[in-house]
Amino acid sequence: MEEYQKYLSGIWDRAWLTNHGPLVQELEQQLKEYLGVQHLLYVSNGTVAIQIAIKALELKGEVITTPFSYVATTTSLIWENCIPVFADIDERTFCINSSDIERHITPNTTAILATHVYGYACDVEEIERIAIKHNLKVIYDGAHAFDVRVKGQSIFSFGDVSTVSFHSTKLFHTIEGGAIITKDKQTAEKMSLYRSFGHIGDSYYSMGINGKNSEFHAAMGLCNLPYVEQIIQSRKQSAELYRKLLNNRLIYFPGPAVAQSLNYAYFPVVFQNEAVLLKIKAALSENEINTRRYFYPSLNTLSYLHSKNDCPVSENIATRVLCLPLYYEMDSSDIEKICKIVNSCFQ
Ligand SMILES: *Cc1c(COP(=O)(O)O)cnc(C)c1O
Repeated sequence: MEEYQKYLSGIWDRAWLTNHGPLVQELEQQLKEYLGVQHLLYVSNGTVAIQIAIKALELKGEVITTPFSYVATTTSLIWENCIPVFADIDERTFCINSSDIERHITPNTTAILATHVYGYACDVEEIERIAIKHNLKVIYDGAHAFDVRVKGQSIFSFGDVSTVSFHSTKLFHTIEGGAIITKDKQTAEKMSLYRSFGHIGDSYYSMGINGKNSEFHAAMGLCNLPYVEQIIQSRKQSAELYRKLLNNRLIYFPGPAVAQSLNYAYFPVVFQNEAVLLKIKAALSENEINTRRYFYPSLNTLSYLHSKNDCPVSENIATRVLCLPLYYEMDSSDIEKICKIVNSCFQ
């Protein structure tokens, strides 16, 4: 609170509240250095980040995407007049299954939009190979993947554009917020224009939207960024305690498939079937412990899609996966209590 208040005083003194103010510029600079990425635009949320990326890469027609993500991944495509075509997911990472992508490619396919689920990296090398072979663009929804590194580089350096969300529920947050990351200078300039109505001062270059974020949000990011490593360490300890106490062969956990760092953004557990999940969710809820069916439903089953295709692995996992509470400095006694309730449901 004290740290945030210092930033507030500065904002008051300058009377510069939004429109690419000094704190927004400072946060962008610090994030670029922290992540080691070339171009990063701070925007108002992780959804507009995806929409601006789709616009800037001029995607149209069909986009191959994942059914196992937050609904914003799919609705961004629909909002931008693209048709989502769903490839199924990998049973280990719950990210898009790269070997299920090519059979969905048609002459109308323009891109792949994939999510690094729970911070586990997609098969970025194979996806790049497919994209080059078929001349497709690649966008990664990295909303869960802040601070993750793959082969020593930021996970956001893969694909044509990566996006991230800084929503309050995410690992690193700015209340509301997000960012768009790219290596390509021209794409970055285009997205920068789109973020701010397509004009700079009195020069009007293109259409655009309002994707800007404010000094108040940037200030929260500047407060939180120095603590990210500490936050991840604390979450790691909690996740390890969960794993130790949920040592039950009827529960399984997704995990990474490539050499990468972990950020412990979520603690997902998969039960044998939906009935068990509902029983455990209810038992926890009775004890005022909130869990989240994340992700549910499988996005290929959304009622408002015009065309649907089956994704049996994703549909199955979506009915069985539950995210248990995980947050900074969570009391180990709370984790013990949760695990006791979960384990008691199997007896
Ligand atoms: C949170 C999230 C988003 C949306 O981000 P907002 O900042 O809430 O708009 C998109 N994709 C995934 C995978 C998310 O988890």
